[in-house]
Amino acid sequence: MHIGVVGLGAMGGNVAARLMEVGHQVTVWNRSPEKTKVLAAAGAKVASTPAEAAAACEAVITLLTDGVAIDEVYNGPAGLLTGNPKGKLFIEMSTVPPKVETDLAPKVRAKGATFVECPVGGSTTPARQGKLLGLMGAEPADADRAKPILEQLCRKVEHCGPVGAGSSMKLAINLPLMVAWQAYGEAFAIARDVGWEPKRLLDLFVESNGANNALKARADMIVAMLENRDPGPTTFSIANAVKDLRTMVQTGESKGAEMPATKAALASFEDAVKNGLGGGDGARQSVYWSQRKKS
Ligand code: NAP
Repeated sequence: MHIGVVGLGAMGGNVAARLMEVGHQVTVWNRSPEKTKVLAAAGAKVASTPAEAAAACEAVITLLTDGVAIDEVYNGPAGLLTGNPKGKLFIEMSTVPPKVETDLAPKVRAKGATFVECPVGGSTTPARQGKLLGLMGAEPADADRAKPILEQLCRKVEHCGPVGAGSSMKLAINLPLMVAWQAYGEAFAIARDVGWEPKRLLDLFVESNGANNALKARADMIVAMLENRDPGPTTFSIANAVKDLRTMVQTGESKGAEMPATKAALASFEDAVKNGLGGGDGARQSVYWSQRKKS
């Protein structure tokens, strides 16, 4: 199939590479053109606008920061919906408030196209390996159309309900992870004065019941950060964590829930951004907090 990937950040670039690896023809577009170079060298076509990508492809995947980016890419002057997208399939995979997806779906359908949301759990390595957790929101017939593509990107595709249900579930599953990065930071702050080497400390945490899969996967990265070595590329940025935590607070409160732990984590992540760490990996939050002095 000829598939478009629009938004080549940490996730979109890996999704495009995965689709090429399993044999699809891929056309890409990214706001900052330099991110298309590696994929173009590997054989992807590069569109000059989102509209050009939509015209060339049968299906288009979008992986963008937030609702503002989605609005620009779909509804902007040379956006995905400006040409004649009749009959095309749009799969929106960003992590955004459910309302962004439920507002977008009827605009896509009004053009005679199909809309499926499928935010994902898992980060850059699972994206590259086709092992994401897909949280799809779609009408049943639309879900059937999108599934063959999504199953090549995900180890599991869960059909959560209609459009909007996938985003709610994505925010829900990501919430404990975000709060945990802050909790590990506070835990490391308590442990720091014991004076252990970072590797010994992380080995103990990884063996404990409190260790989630993300801590296990990033233990070496955290050791490198604690030893002031290069931890390697950011997989999920602190800036994106702030965006997600804000969305979780808003979404939870809109459903009538109180969100004290999420709000506290949000304030701490915002503090990290103020201190120049927005581009750092989410795991950096734990290291930052463990070394931060009480104000
Ligand atoms: P990222 O590396 O920050 O990439 C963001 C992408 O959005 C880039 O392609 C960026 O273009 C584009 N973008 C931002 N604002 C735009 C605008 N106004 N117009 C057009 N394009 C715009 O983020 P990511 O980590 O790939 O994440 C993408 C989405 O997936 C986010 O919603 C994130 O929450 C979600 N997600 C991420 C992970 C992860 O581990 N990284 C896991 C699951 C879900 P430029 O290159 O020009 O800036």
